[in-house]
Amino acid sequence: MKIYPVFIPHAGCPHRCLFCAQDRTTGQPSIPEAGEVEVWLEASLPLRGVGEIAFYGGTFTQLPLVQQNRYLAMAGRFSAAGRVAGIRISTRPDALDDDCIARLLAAGVTTVEIGCQSFNPTVLNSSGRGHTADDGVSAIRRCRHAGLQVGVQLMPGLPGGDAAEALLSLRRALELRPGFVRIYPTVVIDGTALAELWKAGGFSPWTLDEAVEVCADMLHLCRLDDVPVIRIGLQADAQLEANLLAGPYHPAFGQLVRSRLWRRALLSAGSHGRSISINPDDLSDALGHRAENRDWLAKHGAAVCLTTDKTIARGLLRISGQDFNLDALPPQGGQYG
Ligand code: SF4
Repeated sequence: MKIYPVFIPHAGCPHRCLFCAQDRTTGQPSIPEAGEVEVWLEASLPLRGVGEIAFYGGTFTQLPLVQQNRYLAMAGRFSAAGRVAGIRISTRPDALDDDCIARLLAAGVTTVEIGCQSFNPTVLNSSGRGHTADDGVSAIRRCRHAGLQVGVQLMPGLPGGDAAEALLSLRRALELRPGFVRIYPTVVIDGTALAELWKAGGFSPWTLDEAVEVCADMLHLCRLDDVPVIRIGLQADAQLEANLLAGPYHPAFGQLVRSRLWRRALLSAGSHGRSISINPDDLSDALGHRAENRDWLAKHGAAVCLTTDKTIARGLLRISGQDFNLDALPPQGGQYG
């Protein structure tokens, strides 16, 4: 779905989570007026469209009510004119009481992205989130019940968290049947409390390879449950990179993760030395970022010969006439790093 993003960094948020520096990572010191957004949307939206206007960053539902209403009324006019199919907002789990949900629905909001980050009480506490795991569960349930599409954001690798916690938190989210998931492995940004903790030796971020392994396991679980993962890893951005101190950041992180699933599948399918056919649109992920899977498999004595065939469905590997499903192959996280 085409998204028309409006960034309102840190706006409305009464908290300072340990890891958060939205002002630094977006390079946007202030938030736009509804009128400015309207001018941009007028120029950007098609005359008929199926996208969503999305308010990202901060805590939308804790902005002053008058400001929320201005944004929503402006976005609602484009929605009523058929130029988008809906409005999306992102917020915290504890900023979505029933009145708020009813108000969002009445204003034409169709999708709510909820920054749960984890469902582990220790991790939420250590990260200064200021809400409980039950707040996340309740917010997802009530938004879904009201008919909103729900996206869940998770941050594996927060203080107090490990691979097992990341997978348990994801399983909890999946039990609640969200419409989609975003996964942002924790990185250390200058100016945050997490940066101070890291400098003092009180926090070690995951290595890139650890994060890829865990996120590959997470992606595998989401695929098994048929829940789309619409983003893995932070969007590549010069401002973010300028403020990044440590942690598993890579501009092509999502591809590294998808490719890790392919690497595992190519090993699990016993494909060594054989010719494997896949859909051409899967070739880039199967080969890996800068062909690292091809090189890694060759180095580990498991070289494969990949060919493409557009009659093969995405996510399938055809080996000697037999089809293997990428998602049905056993996950083997942790042993191939
Ligand atoms: S709730 Fe969101 S915007 Fe507020 S400090 Fe935490 S991460 Fe940042």
